[in-house]
Amino acid sequence: MNDIVHLDIKYLKGVGPKRAELLAKELDIHTYYDLLYYLPFRYIDKTHIHKINEISGEMPSIQLKGHFITFAEQGEGAKKRLHALFGDGTGTIEVVWFNSVKRMKESLHTGKEYIIFGKPTLFNSRYSISHPEIEDFKPDAEPKGLRGVYTLTEKMRNRAVSSRTIQQLEENLLSSIKSIEETLPKEILERNKLMGLHDALNNIHKPRSIHDLQRAQLRLKFDELFFLQLNILRFAKSRSIKIVGFQFTRIGEHFNNFYNTALPFELTEAQKRVIKEIRKDMGSGRQMNRLLQGDVGSGKTLVAVMSTLIALDNGYQACIIAPTEILATQHYTTVSEMLTKIGIKTALLTGSTKKSERDIIHTQLLSGELDILIGTHAVLEDTVNFHNLGLVVIDEQHRFGVAQRAKMWKKNSTPPHILVMTATPIPRTLAMTVYGDLDVSVIDELPPGRKPVTTVLRFDNHRQSVYRFIGEQLKLGRQIYIVYPLIQESEKSDLRNLEDGYEIIKETFPSYRVCFVHGKMRPAEKDYQMQLFVSHKADILVATTVIEVGVNVPNATVMVIENAERFGLAQLHQLRGRVGRGADQSYCILMSHQKLSKDTRHRLNVMTETNDGFIVAEEDMKLRGPGDMEGTQQSGIAFNLKISNLAHDGQIIQLARDAASEILDKDPELRLPENKKLTQQLAFLFRKQANWSLIS
Ligand code: ADP
Ligand code: MG
Repeated sequence: MNDIVHLDIKYLKGVGPKRAELLAKELDIHTYYDLLYYLPFRYIDKTHIHKINEISGEMPSIQLKGHFITFAEQGEGAKKRLHALFGDGTGTIEVVWFNSVKRMKESLHTGKEYIIFGKPTLFNSRYSISHPEIEDFKPDAEPKGLRGVYTLTEKMRNRAVSSRTIQQLEENLLSSIKSIEETLPKEILERNKLMGLHDALNNIHKPRSIHDLQRAQLRLKFDELFFLQLNILRFAKSRSIKIVGFQFTRIGEHFNNFYNTALPFELTEAQKRVIKEIRKDMGSGRQMNRLLQGDVGSGKTLVAVMSTLIALDNGYQACIIAPTEILATQHYTTVSEMLTKIGIKTALLTGSTKKSERDIIHTQLLSGELDILIGTHAVLEDTVNFHNLGLVVIDEQHRFGVAQRAKMWKKNSTPPHILVMTATPIPRTLAMTVYGDLDVSVIDELPPGRKPVTTVLRFDNHRQSVYRFIGEQLKLGRQIYIVYPLIQESEKSDLRNLEDGYEIIKETFPSYRVCFVHGKMRPAEKDYQMQLFVSHKADILVATTVIEVGVNVPNATVMVIENAERFGLAQLHQLRGRVGRGADQSYCILMSHQKLSKDTRHRLNVMTETNDGFIVAEEDMKLRGPGDMEGTQQSGIAFNLKISNLAHDGQIIQLARDAASEILDKDPELRLPENKKLTQQLAFLFRKQANWSLIS
């Protein structure tokens, strides 16, 4: 491997300095290695010759064998075209050239047998093929196999570099290197029945058969994902070896007391399972780094509360952090209501906590008098010091940067256990990669009795009937959210904006109280408006997406999202999660323009078809690609995957992860001589990546 990594592409047969420059500029290909890993994005099948009477529907490029029957020139000057009729005994098809008319007419002959290759398109209810590839038919020629198609840039096409040129270069390259050094250990190859690397790279460029192509793809995907997982897991392992955690083995008075006397409802099975996972983790003696995923309304708060009790039972303090003041206050209310009666002391610390109160909190934290601190970013400040902090729960994780998580570590000499909670579920396969060094728990069940939210798509011309519906719900005493994508009208767009919306809503529903919040308000004002809605002093809340996270108003039954086409799936799902929290049937109304692109329509349909956050997340990932998912940028993992797709290759990720994990179980730091090649490969593959090992 080493030599081709350094071999300059200009030395390859068929390249030279000019082409080398083009390849470097256009495709970032500098070395033999770069070219070897420049993979086809699709394949065309030349294993089969079709008959003309088999052509139907939408077809890829196909091969036909037959004769040209007639040639006719049409049009004048630049518009000159050549039309030919091509027949194979089962039928005829038209073949058209829009340029090279003269050359084609001179070089092709009637009566001679040809193989033509191209994509049939239907025009005026007749099939035709334009600009096919053409070769003379040779009865004893080797059957042609599958052929890779490579992505090219416009500049390359202008310089007469085609997909075929690249293919030829790949062939030159493959025949110039005797063997490509294997990267995977033999046991892994055998156990997973994987093709060798040399064979796989040959087949990925020039497949012997569909079967071999599939095996080559599997092998290369596995390779890529294996090293990705090995890299993630090795940091996690070495961290867990180097860093000891508090060992919370006691399940004592507080936990049991709460469970037996104060628990407001029966736990769901999912909550029980997750609490067990957390208990086990905190009792293991290593620091917990766990991500708790659960759809909006799945009851994560209760899990957080019970986890803090485990810390308390072992003589430690706990802390719950939320991203906004509204949320922190809401948590404080819920938690103190549940815990004060069993003798636990809680406090709230936010940016607007008064100095005098703040001083008391600081003192009581240090003395250990205070058991649980709930707050916003204010908790991270250096002036906040604990007597002995044992557990940190971070709610709605994606609003916190990695750096902030790291800050919590420094509050103790032994780092506290960390539980991160998120209501933006990401698909398991992505979680294994993005949060690869976190353990993941999932609450995949909603508390009983919830009625799924009914979601509908309504176009702007249905506005009156939507307003009528809102009127009916208001009459029943329910509350309504109306969300806009923007605060103020931007010049270029026709987005209905918040301020206009606010006026219209007030006019339309004159006997109801309307409040509004947006991100540009001062926090105090925002809280005031929000509080109007929470306390039902207002019936309608007009807002931007600032209400997205966590707000709990069970009496709100309608969520109207204006310009829903402008929102991403994850965001729509979050917004929808604000309703359906009480006993009454709730509704989410997606308002949009009638003219929608295919993707947008699909996105909105996903919303109307399912309430399941994980399905929404899967779809979101397929539409946007994993690189754009929430959390992937901050995770520090460079997603330049060449062949695997995190949205589709979940099973391979699991296999690769298991294989990586097994190696690290035997050799956590990869120091054994037999693993030397693996460390070299890791060093090469991740040469551009910073060291993120100590962050989460
Ligand atoms: P989220 O996971 O979105 O943070 P919450 O923790 O806010 O969800 O819970 C949503 C609602 O469900 C709350 O009103 C909570 O009291 C209620 N809840 C939580 N667990 C249960 C349960 N096991 N049975 C019934 N209701 C529950
Ligand atoms: Mg919550």
